[in-house]
Amino acid sequence: MNVNVEELMALAERALAPTYRRPPIIFTHGEGMYVYDTAGRRYLDFVAGIAVCALGHADPGVAQVIAEQARRLVHLSNLYHTEPHLRLAEALVAYSFADRVFFCNSGAEAVEAALKFARKFARTHYGAHKTGLVAFTHSFHGRTMGALSVTEKPAYREPFIPLIPGVTFAPFNDVEAASSAITSETCAVIVEPIQGEGGVYVASPEFLRVLRKRCDEVGALLIFDEVQCGLGRTGTLWAYEAYEVEPDLLTIAKPLANGLPIGAVLMKEKVATVLQPGDHGSTFAGGPLVSAVALYVFERLRSPAFLAHVREMGAYLMERLRAAALPGVREIRGRGLLVGIEIEGEARNVTTAALERGLLLTTAGDYVVRMIPPLVVEKSHIDEAIAILHEAMRA
Ligand SMILES: *Cc1c(COP(=O)(O)O)cnc(C)c1O
Repeated sequence: MNVNVEELMALAERALAPTYRRPPIIFTHGEGMYVYDTAGRRYLDFVAGIAVCALGHADPGVAQVIAEQARRLVHLSNLYHTEPHLRLAEALVAYSFADRVFFCNSGAEAVEAALKFARKFARTHYGAHKTGLVAFTHSFHGRTMGALSVTEKPAYREPFIPLIPGVTFAPFNDVEAASSAITSETCAVIVEPIQGEGGVYVASPEFLRVLRKRCDEVGALLIFDEVQCGLGRTGTLWAYEAYEVEPDLLTIAKPLANGLPIGAVLMKEKVATVLQPGDHGSTFAGGPLVSAVALYVFERLRSPAFLAHVREMGAYLMERLRAAALPGVREIRGRGLLVGIEIEGEARNVTTAALERGLLLTTAGDYVVRMIPPLVVEKSHIDEAIAILHEAMRA
């Protein structure tokens, strides 16, 4: 292909805001588990656009729904109804704890909406004083001001303070510390049942049960952020299913439309009853194109056979990783196809070495290599990835 990569890298240097570190490669297309660059090189994708492309790249079914809906109607705004957003809401409600859905365009937007709804709920039922938020160490909820306020990582927060006041961070999985952090002033507790960006930490069942109990005692709402761990990633449609603890609000996004931007907040009726027209909104959210695609993706992700495949591949990946005797590994953790490998050195050195050998991997904090492949991954891809990872870690 006749593309001048050097020229494009120089363009990136001068035209883009420098908020990302990217390798000097131009990717052109993908198919299934693989993506390709301008030199025709093939890469096995164990990042999936950060846990987004659950059905892999260039899925024919997804492409067909995009093409058909694009020819019919792409956008009208939330001033009007179209059928796709109604059918998508119907499906999300039918297969979850929730009674109602609010649509938005990203994970951070879903978190913003959930925080606002919790504030409205507390104000309506308890008065203006009950505004406190409780979040946890290693949390990641997004980059906008509200979502950042409940994200713990100092490097993400500090350049932008002051953020929303009244946020308490308690140690993740510490039942006693969480219990005392949640008080009568708390309006919401937000937690990822399985933390992603912050290092792939899995909540203990007792921890989530205690959060549920304390929220009920003080009249706070429990928000599960399943933007990364939800929608099949960990082997059940929702991560909370494995815990038998239900939230009041659930945020989802990443894989819902396999790469088109969408987010949603799922909620119990008691939360929806405090909301009224004008309380929150979005120009793009729930448009017919993205909603039609999301409905198609959701129907595939929620199928029992698909979820059984995720569990089988997750178990195989974990078993093979443990058997591989990778050098310099401290701990391997995760659930389903959300797996973190904590290592002795810098995780970024491993992802760079893997990229050079044709494998896309990402990190979760400084010392954790994260594997979040498309959920359509097969055993042969896992074998290939572990072989490359082994070489990369030796290097
Ligand atoms: C990625 C992520 C977000 C933010 O989603 P964006 O779409 O990037 O705004 C929020 N919460 C969790 C758990 C995430 O993994």
